[in-house]
Amino acid sequence: MQKFPDDKNFHPTYYMSKKTTDAEKKYSSYELEALAVIEAVKKFRVYLLGIPFKIVTDCSALEKTMQKKKDLVTRVARWALLLEEFDYVIEHRSGTRMTHVDALNRSPIDIFCISFNNILPRLKSAQDNDNEVKAIKELLRISAYENYCDRNGILYKFVEGKELVVVPDSMKTEIIRNAHEIGHTGVKYTEKHLQDYYYIPKLRQKVEKIISNCVHCILINQKRGKKEGLLHPLHTYHIDHLGPLESTNKNYKYVLAIIDAFTKFVWIYPTKSTTSAEVIAKLKIQKAVFGSPFQIISDRGTTFISGDFADYCAKEEIKHHAITTGLRPSHQFFQNYPWKIQTSGISSQMNYSKR
Ligand SMILES: [Zn+2]
Repeated sequence: MQKFPDDKNFHPTYYMSKKTTDAEKKYSSYELEALAVIEAVKKFRVYLLGIPFKIVTDCSALEKTMQKKKDLVTRVARWALLLEEFDYVIEHRSGTRMTHVDALNRSPIDIFCISFNNILPRLKSAQDNDNEVKAIKELLRISAYENYCDRNGILYKFVEGKELVVVPDSMKTEIIRNAHEIGHTGVKYTEKHLQDYYYIPKLRQKVEKIISNCVHCILINQKRGKKEGLLHPLHTYHIDHLGPLESTNKNYKYVLAIIDAFTKFVWIYPTKSTTSAEVIAKLKIQKAVFGSPFQIISDRGTTFISGDFADYCAKEEIKHHAITTGLRPSHQFFQNYPWKIQTSGISSQMNYSKR
């Protein structure tokens, strides 16, 4: 979670989940809680290194163990070591204050049972206002009718050995939408869950219609479709120069930085100038190991808008985006990155420092 600059509230920036392996299934619940923390910091390592952050967990044992660090079992000791490189504090919050987490732990089917029991009284009154249901109830008073039955004033229908609540027209959309929104599941799963509890004729068609109109699913699918390419390492490079800096005795005065947009991995090359020829030469070194990227993002400096650079990109089938970044593009570029890059002379090191 991270605070947005314009309000003081925390907002989720990422959700992650992971299935336990066969070996991990045998861990105690305490170890599993610890494992969840470890997996999370491993996954977000590139973002967490060098900044202070807080881990909120409902496992109080974890908080105590990491503080005392006494008599740890080997596995947990290894995890404690792994956490050493981070600047973190653990905050314990009781499970009762984190009901949303329990909801995530539960399987959709459990949640479904809960919501089914909650909705029964409303279904009953909706049935009482539905003419078709009322007519069937009337018929049942005289004799058996198809596979319907009236229990405690609620109309059910037996279908393939299951006793299903007859859903009146007024609640069909709501029931299907609720079932879908538990996990924004696909047509098949949503239909399957509903079939265990509710009788809704032409269910498949109705489920398809509702899912195709679900805004959340539409947005998610769009994102997947359009931005998939950006999710790969070595797909997009940001490139820029830093300098001029104090010259080395071999006349290296600048640093060319190539940053992989996905992993944030940085390659730095000392250069004698900021000419296109030198940039191309370094890109060729980079290409020899990793191949050419799909696209390059740079500022509008003369180096990058030159004909030579355009020719090179065209030859390598690299999409080049030159963006306006302000008066001092190269410096601003680095400042916009999550870390400040401190340099001292050409043989500079990149230090990840706290912002
Ligand atoms: Zn959806």
